[in-house]
Amino acid sequence: MAKVIGKIIIDIEHCKGCELCVESCPHDCISIADTINAKGYQYAIMVNDHCTGCVNCALVCPDAVISVYRKVVREPKPAKIKEVEIS
Ligand code: SF4
Ligand code: SF4
Repeated sequence: MAKVIGKIIIDIEHCKGCELCVESCPHDCISIADTINAKGYQYAIMVNDHCTGCVNCALVCPDAVISVYRKVVREPKPAKIKEVEIS
C-alpha cells in the first residue's frame, strides 16, 4: 500500500502569526515560534514529521505563505508463493 509523506515550507518573513494554520492541522504539525520575524510577528513553524500533505494549512493561510509538498512511498509487493506437491 502507498503511504503519503507530506512536508510544508513556510515563508516566515511574510507570516503574521494568525494561528489559523495551527488550528487547521489535523496532526498538530504546526506551532508558533517564540521568536519574531523582521516585521515583528511571531511566525508559524513545523514541529513534527506527521504531515500527510492534506493542504489544510495552505488553504486557510490568508497570506498564502505555506507551500505543501507530497511524496508517495510505495511498499514493494509481496512475492507470490505457489504451492506444489512434491512426490
Ligand atoms: S499539509 Fe495538512 S498535515 Fe501537513 S502541516 Fe498542513 S495541515 Fe498539517
Ligand atoms: S495561517 Fe499563514 S499567516 Fe497565519 S500563522 Fe499560519 S502561516 Fe502564518
